[in-house]
Amino acid sequence: MRYVVVTGGVISGLGKGVTTTSISKIIQSMGHKVTVVKIDPYVNVDAGTMSPFEHGEVFVLDDGGEVDLDLGNYERFLNIHLTKAHNITTGKVYLKVIEKERKGDYLGKTVQIIPHITDEIKAEIRNVAKGHDVTVIEVGGTVGDIESMPFLEALRQLSIEEDVVFIHVTLVPNLSVVGEPKTKPTQHSVKALREVGISPHIIVCRSVEKLNEKSKEKIALFTNVRVDHVISAPDVNDIHYIPLIFNEEKIGQKILDQFKMDGKPNLTLWKSILCKDYKKDVNLAIVGKYADLHDSYLSISQALKHASFKTCYKTNISWIEAEEFENNKISNELDKFDGILVPGGFGSRGVEGKINVIKYARENNIPYLGICLGFQLAVIEYARNVCGLKNANTTEVCDTEHPVIDLLPEQKKISSKGGTMRLGASEILLDKNSMIYSLYKTDKIYERHRHRYEVNRDYIDELLKDKHLVFSGISPSGLMEVLEIKDHPFFLGTQFHPEFKSRVEAVAPTFYGLVKAMGEK
Ligand code: GLN
Repeated sequence: MRYVVVTGGVISGLGKGVTTTSISKIIQSMGHKVTVVKIDPYVNVDAGTMSPFEHGEVFVLDDGGEVDLDLGNYERFLNIHLTKAHNITTGKVYLKVIEKERKGDYLGKTVQIIPHITDEIKAEIRNVAKGHDVTVIEVGGTVGDIESMPFLEALRQLSIEEDVVFIHVTLVPNLSVVGEPKTKPTQHSVKALREVGISPHIIVCRSVEKLNEKSKEKIALFTNVRVDHVISAPDVNDIHYIPLIFNEEKIGQKILDQFKMDGKPNLTLWKSILCKDYKKDVNLAIVGKYADLHDSYLSISQALKHASFKTCYKTNISWIEAEEFENNKISNELDKFDGILVPGGFGSRGVEGKINVIKYARENNIPYLGICLGFQLAVIEYARNVCGLKNANTTEVCDTEHPVIDLLPEQKKISSKGGTMRLGASEILLDKNSMIYSLYKTDKIYERHRHRYEVNRDYIDELLKDKHLVFSGISPSGLMEVLEIKDHPFFLGTQFHPEFKSRVEAVAPTFYGLVKAMGEK
């Protein structure tokens, strides 16, 4: 089997994920079946219990896996479906080995990092590689971290047993505008990699500007890599152009030559999707809790990008802290937006501010998309301000006279917090006379979820009595999944997270609908 392993050096946040994704896209465009694995050396079993503050968004897969946000990039670029098995963490590997040990699978043996942990890592990798021409593996963290050691050792062993191309992503800083690019950090980082027995075949150098030949030659000399295998990865405004930039450096051919495989990259479709000439700009306010940390909402901003490509309306996002709108203080600030989006969220902070913003969008005919918590709060806003249920709320925030949003029945029995929400893709039936149906053009959809609460079924008649609110998508078990407000240009709430299934080559219909409505406002 053939593997491409991408490691990172010098600093974190180098764009290793986007590098991995772009390389995978190029190999895929050469006619090969590609899959991608993310190794996260942290001890958490999965990303589900990690704070978006620390680690960015928790991405959700069809099978309910709560995984690192890089898997979102792989799915979006490659238009493939990944599973929990594609995210390997230290916690997951150790848990497996320890469970086996308890079952007696290693009876009589001393269980050790080498070979038991490394064997488990290799087995997990081989398992996902099955049926693919090339498997690209991204190793999270930076070479030299204690946590990465067993993984790098497993990958070193893998390179003896299989065909492996190692790519190392490093930083080439420029200390002043006139000064020359500094190659020393790269030299040191490759040295650290060599110490664990891995010699990179290709070095991808992140820098502000394109690397000059002199720097490439220096890096090649000191790291024992061919000069044409030193690839320059300068900063770009839009990550979607990275496959095109890498392709100019013929990285795909270089990898396939190493594998003795054939193929010519074909990025024509990709290139044609990226809208270069926007018809106009539209301004969207995203009102959330982690508004300063855009990585917490990565899939949403990417889905908006996909919708912008398709409509050719360039979406400018303003991230606004929900707490600003508490005490009913809706400032004139919201006037300048063509649309409002309230994303998913947990806990009570910012909830009242979001409800005020939703009221404003509903009453002023501003296109609105509410996702998960943004859907639930739209129900609360409607219950309070239209149905007259004054203290309507979600039991996530407080015990209330009118719990229009309440725990899912199965959640009432659960006490642990890891991997226990309603997770993953499931069926939703759409009403044929609805806006959501006109967007999806089908009456049966499969979308991903991550929640504990739902619309309280005891309140549905009350909510529907005014006949302006409709639940136009319902799960086969009777859970409210989609709401719309009639006589409004675009007011849509979804209990599911449409952003997790949006792809460059297949934009999520809800985001397309929102951006189109903003452009036509
Ligand atoms: N906190 C809400 C729930 O658990 C919404 C979750 C979300 O927005 N992802 O149901």
